[in-house]
Amino acid sequence: VIEIANLHKAYGALEVIKGVDITARRGDVVSLIGSSGSGKSTILRCANLLEDSQQGDILFKGEPVTWRGKGLHRHPSDPKQVLRIRTNLSMVFQQFNLWAHLTILQNVMEAPVTVLRRPRAEVEEAARGYLDKVGIADKADAYPAQLSGGQQQRAAIARALAMEPEALLFDEPTSALDPELEQEVVRVIRDLANEGRTMMIVTHDMKMAADVSDHVVFLHQGLIEEEGAPERLFGAPESERLRGFLSSTR
Ligand code: ATP
Ligand code: MG
Repeated sequence: VIEIANLHKAYGALEVIKGVDITARRGDVVSLIGSSGSGKSTILRCANLLEDSQQGDILFKGEPVTWRGKGLHRHPSDPKQVLRIRTNLSMVFQQFNLWAHLTILQNVMEAPVTVLRRPRAEVEEAARGYLDKVGIADKADAYPAQLSGGQQQRAAIARALAMEPEALLFDEPTSALDPELEQEVVRVIRDLANEGRTMMIVTHDMKMAADVSDHVVFLHQGLIEEEGAPERLFGAPESERLRGFLSSTR
């Protein structure tokens, strides 16, 4: 579903992604791990069209998500295309970015109603279903500030699901949370993985990565240093850098 091939990304003179290939087939859960600044978030942001890139291709269901112009990849100019891709590749951020002035139910309903223009009653029913799925059906009428961090993040996941995306992108979904609250969110992500959803997850939580992933990619300074099935990567890491990284996170 998502194919990243030879991706290069620079901020001015600073090259942060230096030729990365990652494929997530339908139903795959791919985790990206690596130290701070290795380029994990940048890759997700490129896939979601929050960033342009200089070279390489990102294909979503075989369709290019990168645009060429004068030999460079450019941000697409067609807003409908951007919208379609963002709808189908829903992103969940570290900071949950809920609308503070809307209730949890309204937060989940917002995009399907205003962006996809789907009928309110239908969207509301689906939204309540997603809140139930993430275990916060009783918080539908509360405001974000009245929820714990773990509940807010689960609301953000419900909001992403409400777009009925083809794939989900998570950028450090648990790193702003206390360990107890983190587990509630990990549980939801594990359920989504078991449902066969396609996901790319940037995480510092090696236990979650080992638990939910089909494939784990270890990035170092904008390049893939090592990748493989979680059992192999965590059980028998080959590169010195990965061994060092894993021992620093234990
Ligand atoms: P972390 O674990 O800290 O979130 P990361 O692996 O997600 O790190 P990125 O956020 O992808 O790392 O950043 C990769 C590199 O790109 C870093 O060196 C960062 O300083 C640089 N960078 C990111 N965003 C920008 C920007 N808007 N302008 C300039 N440099 C940037
Ligand atoms: Mg990051």
